[in-house]
Amino acid sequence: MLIDKEKCIGCEECHPYCPVGAIAAVEWEGRAVSEIDQVECVECGCCYKRSGVCPVDAIYMPKLEWPRSIREPFSNPHIKHPSTTGQGRGTEEMKTNDVTGRFPFGMAGVAVEMGRPGVGTSFRDLQTVAMAIARLGVEFEPNNPVAELMADPKTGKLHEQVLNEKVLSAILEFKIKTEKLREVLVAIKDVSAKIDTVFSLDLISRVYPDGTTPALAIAKDAGFTPRPNTKTNVGLGRPLFKEA
Ligand code: SF4
Ligand code: SF4
Repeated sequence: MLIDKEKCIGCEECHPYCPVGAIAAVEWEGRAVSEIDQVECVECGCCYKRSGVCPVDAIYMPKLEWPRSIREPFSNPHIKHPSTTGQGRGTEEMKTNDVTGRFPFGMAGVAVEMGRPGVGTSFRDLQTVAMAIARLGVEFEPNNPVAELMADPKTGKLHEQVLNEKVLSAILEFKIKTEKLREVLVAIKDVSAKIDTVFSLDLISRVYPDGTTPALAIAKDAGFTPRPNTKTNVGLGRPLFKEA
């Protein structure tokens, strides 16, 4: 996003709209105007025309070229990802396992939701986490929009060109055998000290016929305090899979 300094009257009305604090007052040709830091701007569109915040219509969006163009779909929920044609940061199937059966007995699903409004995340940080867990044999979700940015899903390495791109949030989604889950969770805990952002951790698991959820005990043993959630589709979610 850019500000046309010729038009800008320096009212600063747009500043609070930016979730990453990228808009600042500057002096330009002897008067106060506003400017957008192009390193920090995640192209979320909150300050843009649709908000109607700028009284003189000085904020505009230039055509975004690759790799900067990936910032917009990861930061603006109204924009579809070109690779998946879906909106949002992850895949909905993580929340509808009762229909898809993506995570069978013996497997756990994990999502590392990196970045949040106010912080954001770079793909360099996302790569740091991806590489720390890839060596443990995780299977990254191919339908997640991060997948097309991976140069090598076996190592978790991303394409070099995207590493400096910053977005509001991106999710690393993968599955892992339950017996390897503890090791993966400990690796995530360890790597959290090496990144410059925040993340939430989601753990998806089947409830076993005896009512237990082994993944919960594993998460506790790995030093996490899980908050169990469940989504019930009250009979509307018809399984599209057969139990193995
Ligand atoms: S597009 Fe979003 S991140 Fe960029 S300046 Fe506007 S509000 Fe801030
Ligand atoms: S709202 Fe418009 S005129 Fe006011 S500081 Fe922002 S860009 Fe400039």
